[in-house]
Amino acid sequence: AAAPVAGEKRVLLAAPRGYCAGVDRAVIAVEKALEHYGAPVYVRKQIVHNKHVVSTLEERGAIFVEETDEVPEGELVIFSAHGVSPAVVQSAEDRGLRTIDATCPLVTKVHREAVRFAKNDNEILLIGHEGHEEVEGTYGEAPESTTIVNNPEEARTIEVKNPDKLIWLSQTTLSVDETMEIVQILRERFPNLQDPPSDDICYATSNRQAAIKKIAPQADLVIVVGSANSSNSVRLVEVALEYGAKAAYRVDYAHQVDENWFTGVGTVGVTSGASVPEILVQDVIRLLADYGYADVSEVVTAEEDILFSLPKELRATLKERG
Ligand code: SF4
Repeated sequence: AAAPVAGEKRVLLAAPRGYCAGVDRAVIAVEKALEHYGAPVYVRKQIVHNKHVVSTLEERGAIFVEETDEVPEGELVIFSAHGVSPAVVQSAEDRGLRTIDATCPLVTKVHREAVRFAKNDNEILLIGHEGHEEVEGTYGEAPESTTIVNNPEEARTIEVKNPDKLIWLSQTTLSVDETMEIVQILRERFPNLQDPPSDDICYATSNRQAAIKKIAPQADLVIVVGSANSSNSVRLVEVALEYGAKAAYRVDYAHQVDENWFTGVGTVGVTSGASVPEILVQDVIRLLADYGYADVSEVVTAEEDILFSLPKELRATLKERG
């Protein structure tokens, strides 16, 4: 393609963007549960961290609760894509709740690693954001053996019991670069630190970051569609700025795009977090066209074809009912 004339208005649309396999599966799980068991269906926490998805499911009869003790006894509760600690599973069982576990299989993988390494007397340094649901769930697998490392500063100061039996694990939706920086700091302090058997930051997180890294150096403005509590969406804004975007903002909806952002802007980069339906991105693309940014090219840095089968509890029901 010819290099754009200075001042020419164009959009570079990141691919991959939007829904990952874990989000797709979790949202379908709630939809199928509503279809097959009827409303209400309770969901512990937001099924995925996206306002639009949550309100759409609410309209269809899903009831989102913070904890299982808000769910009436005997009812059905779905655990969100971010995973739950064993204590949450136990409390649902104690209350006689029926459960569907929509935890992303890639989060479950990290849980299994935590259990296995704790069992072998390792100390786990869990890189991630304290208070995020996924971190709470993973931490809860082996609280006695796990220390959360939030950022590089903490990596410089945390104390460990035995530096020779130490492994790091991570949240699936972190900045790839910052995580590597944290690991390097930890490794300098604890040379025998073990790596996880495979990457914990998931394919969707790293692919979306790689795509925006390609676009950011050319972008006067990057718009990331995603919710404020979506870790991977917030990371996309940071990564865009780190890689040279002159400005980057996150919006839930197209109407939050501010006219003032376009002053002097030629190239607009657009992407979306792993929990964001494509329809919200297309709304932004339409709005951009209204502002004269009608020339849209997709920047493709990877193809994704991962699909996860539905949670086993649902598969069983769907099979029974044919
Ligand atoms: Fe799973 Fe990654 Fe999607 Fe999270 S972002 S639900 S870990 S695929």
